[in-house]
Amino acid sequence: MINKISDNFYAITLPMPFRLKHVHVYALVNGNDVALFDTGFNVGGSYEKLENDLKSIGQSIKSIRDIYITHVHADHCGMAGLIKEKSGAKIHLSPTADESNQNYNNTDLLTRQMKKFYLLHGLTEQEIEGLIVMFSGLRDIISIFKGDDHLQPNKICEFGDWNFEVIFTPGHSNGHVCYYFRKQKFLLSGDTILPQITPNLSPDLVDEDFRPLHSFLASLAALEKLPVEKIYPGHGNAFSDLKTRTREMREHHAERSRLIFNCITGKPKTTFQVSQVIFGSDLPDFDKFLALNETYVHLLELKLQGAIKEDISGQNLVYRLV
Ligand SMILES: [Zn+2]
Repeated sequence: MINKISDNFYAITLPMPFRLKHVHVYALVNGNDVALFDTGFNVGGSYEKLENDLKSIGQSIKSIRDIYITHVHADHCGMAGLIKEKSGAKIHLSPTADESNQNYNNTDLLTRQMKKFYLLHGLTEQEIEGLIVMFSGLRDIISIFKGDDHLQPNKICEFGDWNFEVIFTPGHSNGHVCYYFRKQKFLLSGDTILPQITPNLSPDLVDEDFRPLHSFLASLAALEKLPVEKIYPGHGNAFSDLKTRTREMREHHAERSRLIFNCITGKPKTTFQVSQVIFGSDLPDFDKFLALNETYVHLLELKLQGAIKEDISGQNLVYRLV
């Protein structure tokens, strides 16, 4: 069932495997044209659900004229290529997101970078092979696409009578953007601000200068400055109190940084070893990978703050107190 937010503005909830089970995409309508914000995962009847929901408001896949992407994770852009093929829609995304998307499709580059990064941080070759297989499985279900338009920070986009601004919010993903409707005080937050969970932070395996946690906290600070009355996230229910939520997320990360710092005692440890202390040592493979990423982003900031030191030990990077 389609969910009407206001006149000519709708939320569409699409299915998704994995824990969250659903992802929301948003549709603006102007006459016979639709602008879609994110596209959903390319699995499990997602396309049919989107088609039926658009039909229920007198529109169709062919009505989609523009696709605005928040970030290039499979649950947010998985159907972009497919929708573009059917409708000729123009795909808008940040230049960094477009580049990341091309990198994901470059199997050799991604495999090389994954091996390098996860070996350094303490996974075994066998564990890394498992990750590579998992990622190539994901790649197979994302319809391939290239961006048609590179969004610039604070650019004002127009669609019929609607105006919305592009807010760059790197953190959860390097090229993430949110869409802000100043007049209506709506924020389409993608995965930057979610009502119940703190989005996972992961390295950019190709851009080694990317500081996910540092960027994420700066993005929260930038969003807090906007007058927002309603946040429409990629997952979970819409909600109102932006500042309470950003404060909770900041506190969550401050606490996690403290816990991670407290692990750096005794023998120097790899990122993976620290992640096992924090998140447990009996995790399924995907969670093991997320836990390592989350630990890495904190260790990186602690290192840059001068609180801990990074050394090389054999083929691993290890962390110790200064
Ligand atoms: Zn998501």
